[in-house]
Amino acid sequence: MNDTPSNHALPPLSLSEADMLRAGQRTIERVVARLSRPDAGPVRGLHRTRDELDKEWREPPPEHGEDLTALVDRLAESALAVGMRSDHPRCFAFVPTAGTYPAVLADALAAAFLAVPSAWLVGAGPTQLELVTISWLCELLGLPPGSGGLFVSGGTEANLTALAVARDTRLGGDLRGARAYCSDQAHPSVAKALHILGFGRDQLVAVPADASLRLPVDVLAARIRQDRAGGLRPFLVIATAGTTGTGAVDPLPELAELCRAEGLWLHTDGAIGATARITERGRTLLAGLEASDSVTVDPHKWLFQPYDIGCVLLREPELLRGTFAMARHSVDVDAGYLSASQTPAPPASAAGADAGTGTGAAPTGPVNLSDYGVQLTRGLRALKLWLSLKTFGVRAFRDAVADGMRRAEYAAGRAAAHPELELTSPAGLCILTFRYRPAGLPRGPELDELQARVSQAVVAGGQAMVVPTRVRGEQVLRMCTINPRGTEADIDAAFDQVVAAGRELAARGRPAGADH
Ligand SMILES: *Cc1c(COP(=O)(O)O)cnc(C)c1O
Repeated sequence: MNDTPSNHALPPLSLSEADMLRAGQRTIERVVARLSRPDAGPVRGLHRTRDELDKEWREPPPEHGEDLTALVDRLAESALAVGMRSDHPRCFAFVPTAGTYPAVLADALAAAFLAVPSAWLVGAGPTQLELVTISWLCELLGLPPGSGGLFVSGGTEANLTALAVARDTRLGGDLRGARAYCSDQAHPSVAKALHILGFGRDQLVAVPADASLRLPVDVLAARIRQDRAGGLRPFLVIATAGTTGTGAVDPLPELAELCRAEGLWLHTDGAIGATARITERGRTLLAGLEASDSVTVDPHKWLFQPYDIGCVLLREPELLRGTFAMARHSVDVDAGYLSASQTPAPPASAAGADAGTGTGAAPTGPVNLSDYGVQLTRGLRALKLWLSLKTFGVRAFRDAVADGMRRAEYAAGRAAAHPELELTSPAGLCILTFRYRPAGLPRGPELDELQARVSQAVVAGGQAMVVPTRVRGEQVLRMCTINPRGTEADIDAAFDQVVAAGRELAARGRPAGADH
């Protein structure tokens, strides 16, 4: 098509309107088919080995163009179909999500309009949409007036962003002897963030979780006192609101009180769990979230957004500027081309009262969101969440999150009642763990190994996706029940798969493994 005479009149790197519409129509058909029938294929996706993928896709850089519509077809039928179907109703692995059609359109719109909520001068409208969406999230999570923040790539970057501010506001540029605290159930991205921020591994104290897999406040308090007495400098506690392993929620009100008394920054990693706060039950389960200095929440988890969209929220969002404002990092007296897009930094006394990113703040002036985080040029991640919330309304999201919590309770009840299943941690928000345990098999390496083999067999069968994790040093199976398409029947079916695989493997005995 690139050789048709009409194309010679086209500007570089463009297609005729007819070609754009043809490829667009096909793309939308593919999108609608994918979103309408998430269970149209095996949960684990099409299976291809690395070799097969290599054979099909590796090629030299394509010197000449091909037909876009044909490329879209090829992608949808092969590479994009090889990978777990997170939105399959029987996908319980990791943190499945669903995606929404408005979110797909939003990503396309943001791309087409080259929306860039970085500097007000180039992206005032996009910035406004991000500020509004952020303020909605603050309000929905029950954070105090004046809270704000920004969208980032995910929970990892949100944690990094928050911990950078904690470091800069509490340590005065001197990292020596500083100590941060979390439970041993915290997400690895916490340790990763501290590493990136220049702390040694010994500067993160992972306190062993209690019997309910939560951070024990008394043990933590004693450790902080001991460290202080030893000349160290405690500055930060990282609570988890919904651990990735079991959905456990650290005791937020008690941690907030401890942090207040000790003058420590409290960061709450609610990447998965924080959004439970939009439900009535979640308001109780996550009481105290509002006392955090900073909160991580991942809309690409329990707000059903396609990747990637994470979010960091702070009680005092203007503190982000202290760490991230471009002007702070200028290496040249004349900041060059960037200076035109910079607005002067507000006087320190105006922090928090400035236009800022806060919920309650009056819209008093331009905002450069690039001054609030790692990225200078940034995409309009907010748009997919904005358009999803506007299309379906918060109520639909609240119901979907509440249903996910109910399904976790249902699944926990089923596992507890089944003679060959054992519940190893109760429903924590949207997550439960259990194991297949045939009568007479004691706890130990053999039972542990059985869980891994049961998971492999279930995954290979393509009917459900349930993967193992470790709880209190033992191998268990884990289910995350947030997919709004999932039903109790899907949970029953997954347990049936687990029990069938377990029976077969236990009967076969070791060492016969799954065929995969
Ligand atoms: C998923 C998760 C993260 C990391 O989030 P990404 O979006 O994958 O970067 C951090 N903390 C917790 C508790 C999580 O569950």
